[in-house]
Amino acid sequence: MEKIHSLTGMMDLISSKADKEDLSNKVFLTEKLLKSIFENFSISEIRTPALEDTNLFKRSVGDTSDIVNKELYSFLDKNKKSITLRPEGTASVIRSLIEKKIDGDTHKLWYLGPMWRYERPQKGRYRQFYQAGVEMLGYEEGISEFEMISIICEINRELRIENPVIKINHLGSNETKKNFCDALIKYLKPMKSDLGEKDIARLEKNPLRILDTKDPNTQKILEKAPKISNFLPESSIKMLNVIKDTFSKDCEINIDYSLVRGLDYYTGFVFEAVSSNLGAQDAYLGGGRYDGLCKQLGGKELPAIGMAMGIERLALLSNAVEETKSSISFIIISSTIAANAYKIAHDLRSLNKKISIDVQLSEGSLKSKLRRANKDNADYAVIIGEDELESGDVIVKSLSDQNSEQSNMKLNDLRDFISNLK
Ligand code: AMP
Repeated sequence: MEKIHSLTGMMDLISSKADKEDLSNKVFLTEKLLKSIFENFSISEIRTPALEDTNLFKRSVGDTSDIVNKELYSFLDKNKKSITLRPEGTASVIRSLIEKKIDGDTHKLWYLGPMWRYERPQKGRYRQFYQAGVEMLGYEEGISEFEMISIICEINRELRIENPVIKINHLGSNETKKNFCDALIKYLKPMKSDLGEKDIARLEKNPLRILDTKDPNTQKILEKAPKISNFLPESSIKMLNVIKDTFSKDCEINIDYSLVRGLDYYTGFVFEAVSSNLGAQDAYLGGGRYDGLCKQLGGKELPAIGMAMGIERLALLSNAVEETKSSISFIIISSTIAANAYKIAHDLRSLNKKISIDVQLSEGSLKSKLRRANKDNADYAVIIGEDELESGDVIVKSLSDQNSEQSNMKLNDLRDFISNLK
């Protein structure tokens, strides 16, 4: 029969006891650490459906963005309604607040889950990937900008990210954006035919995105283009400098006036975290202020700032290691004593929740079970056979120290031993 394969750009994540450096393990650890950071900042969880009305993304992310133009996973459902696998999390969060009529309040929210974009897969770029995001809603420009950068610094520190740089910029108000775009178009139009193909299309639809170009010809032309810094009010430039100074001891922060971000809804402060260790797809986190989005989606005027981070990219960069805890491989020599031996394992587990007790479930020789225990990197093997059950003791063997002898232990001593493990 023909084999069924996973879809292009979509991967399975399976944790491995044997290889701590495995990407799946790093992804799971990254998620765990992020959740504890979000809790530490007193941010609450929100979980929204993976499928949404396609119009939600057309109206929020924007018709001119790459995501909506080319990358949406959209389908007609059985009712012929167009639905879309979410490509990002912010639009759903806002939709949810509006629907629950809590879009007039303040909220600090985080989410984590799979997102889908029909992109060309490469290292660090997948068609199904995981994002965690933070949204601070109902807060005007000011302190929440600091909170965002503080969270990023904490992520860099806790995950021990390699070579992190935070780029920041300010897009000003809608009026600033418009004035700057007009000037940019005026400068670029006479050189239109020299621009990259993608950038010619952007000139009509979304000129700001040209600043993101990867085309060398356009990049050369942009060197002399008007800069957004010339259109920004003094207060915005000051804010960028104050943020840079505030966190400069903890993180490398660069003011980058060409940073625009790919989604249409950003206004004001925008930022991106990059690392040279990632290669071509160097951004692992991005975000900004999006004060107009809630109103645009039919809700109240709701100032907001948010960010999203790619879990796989964070995992690729992370040097965090799982907190070590003792692990015991519990070996029952024969299934004839399964019930009594299992009772011991069951009681032991309740004595110490910090350690793991892995009862080996398969039949097999003691030798093969010890091999399995070693392969799984267990610290100890606890071995129970018929003789041991009868005499009321067990065999304990340290696996981390190959030279150590195995020893017999009374059940009571085993309980103390297990209770004291860390
Ligand atoms: P964005 O929503 O495009 O601002 O992306 C935020 C973060 O999500 C990026 O910095 C990446 O870390 C991650 N990301 C975006 N697209 C992908 C993808 N196709 N595969 C893996 N990670 C992605």
